[in-house]
Amino acid sequence: MSETEIIIRGGIRAYLADLIFPSRCPFCDDFIPYDRLCCEDCFNETLWADENICPRCGKSIMKGCLCEKGVKYDLCVPATYYSGGVKDSVYKLKFRSETAAIDLYGRIIAKRLEIMGILPEINLAVPVPMAKKNLRIRGYNQAELLAKAIIKGTNISVNIGLIIRKNVTRSQHDLSAEERHEAVTTQYFPLDTDIAKGKTVLLVDDVLTTGSTLNYCAGLLKEKLGAKKIICAVAATV
Ligand SMILES: [Zn+2]
Ligand SMILES: [Zn+2]
Repeated sequence: MSETEIIIRGGIRAYLADLIFPSRCPFCDDFIPYDRLCCEDCFNETLWADENICPRCGKSIMKGCLCEKGVKYDLCVPATYYSGGVKDSVYKLKFRSETAAIDLYGRIIAKRLEIMGILPEINLAVPVPMAKKNLRIRGYNQAELLAKAIIKGTNISVNIGLIIRKNVTRSQHDLSAEERHEAVTTQYFPLDTDIAKGKTVLLVDDVLTTGSTLNYCAGLLKEKLGAKKIICAVAATV
């Protein structure tokens, strides 16, 4: 698949939606044809994930991979580095209800999983959950939207109830790496179910920062819910 093929989307729905809300590039905001996911300039300028990303933990080798500390997931596939227009797109996703970049990130990740030969072994996709209160405010969980974009066109299902997240009072952004690590252990809980037992799970989040959340949720899926293998997917890696 060429770069141009990756940014093309089709369908009557995209065409009709464009008549009411003309499509814009999620990075530069310029108008784009209805059948594009972003403009070609932005696609070419984006730092897509490359060989400098550790295939196991998903972090940049230059910035220090997490493998030495031990990761509980088996692989992590990011779409891109968290920089430039990508940072803005994640901000828009979280705080301005602009979700257009998700389809592109999902498409890139799906393509990577396909090239790596991993897609056929995935049984179900689990987005990292949001706390109910935050979900009510935002109206959607961006990790769930990304999971749906990745598995589009496959028969993999998205399960949003396997892990639940309790309401938290402090924003994750205010916490140090150590505090974040500590915080996740009191936030995420597994549901009592055997849905994931023996399965290969695609665990999806928006951004990989310290790895604490993915690591903890991967641990829950494996140790409490009996999952066999955890493949993580994130829109961007810091
Ligand atoms: Zn653009
Ligand atoms: Zn690593």
